[in-house]
Amino acid sequence: MISFPTGFSKKFREILGDEFSKLEECLNIRPMKTIRVNTLKISKHELKKRLEEKGWKLHQVPWCETAFFVETEEKIAKSEEFFLGYFYILDAASLVPPIVLNPKEDEVVLDLCASPGSKTTFMVELMKNKGLIIANDISPRRIEALSNNLQKTGSTNTVVTMMNGLNVKRLGMTFDKILVDVPCSASGTFISSFSVLEFWSEHVVKKLSSLQKKLLKSAAEVLKEGGEIVYSTCSMDPEENEENLDYAVKKLGLEPVKIDLKGLKYRRGIESYKGVRYEYSECAMRFYPFDNLTEGFFICKLRK
Ligand code: SAM
Repeated sequence: MISFPTGFSKKFREILGDEFSKLEECLNIRPMKTIRVNTLKISKHELKKRLEEKGWKLHQVPWCETAFFVETEEKIAKSEEFFLGYFYILDAASLVPPIVLNPKEDEVVLDLCASPGSKTTFMVELMKNKGLIIANDISPRRIEALSNNLQKTGSTNTVVTMMNGLNVKRLGMTFDKILVDVPCSASGTFISSFSVLEFWSEHVVKKLSSLQKKLLKSAAEVLKEGGEIVYSTCSMDPEENEENLDYAVKKLGLEPVKIDLKGLKYRRGIESYKGVRYEYSECAMRFYPFDNLTEGFFICKLRK
């Protein structure tokens, strides 16, 4: 039987109180399989009809017009429609950061940590394949997946760069919008893969929290005046979330922007943890695996 590591239980019991048992229940369930229609290649209506004719059951994702929860015996990733790039497979939580960033057709956008492209490919669609996206990642292995996914979805507005996000100033560009979907402890993803529990530790969280602050600083430096950053993690740990939101406001001088999203069950950020008070948590969105049967996520928006 799978259980949480001791330190993990202790921490999230303290954070969640009575709701901790709901988190434990998520060890016995899996998130809903989700697809996002690639509207660059096929309409939502046409794809729905085609998949339903094959016997797939599709349920509208309440917070995203072009995404469905899917029930089928067929292996989704082996289907003809997937090979044709008619849809992208992702966790439904990953839909939220691009919706909140809301990139527009005439904007220049940076996706600082982009691989494998769940959010970049969605932003391409939101921008109707116009404007410009720089999709960056540090990892050669993961860049390959990003490039393949962009090619498959038919993106022509995206340039892929492979560099350390800390050096992005070297591009000599500034951006209207930046997605900072940072490397994190991924504690919110245990519902998809238990292996994250093996790597989670307070040491890892602390180390990543420090890298995340540096990535936020680097992004802030290349953001235009009036431009916006969406910062997101699939971690439930306040050190990677509310602590970094406070850092961005207090140390980087960014303005927190309160965000909302219809159809999604979420709560505001944690107000304090271990005696540290987080001042701007009221602006953020935090949701746990048991809120929507997705991975857990934290999202906030910052303006320069
Ligand atoms: N945004 C991606 C998506 O939705 O498909 C997921 C990004 S994942 C949470 C974090 C990514 O950050 C990884 O692909 C990792 O290779 C990349 N990364 C780690 N350190 C980095 C750095 N210093 N600069 C840029 N990317 C980095």
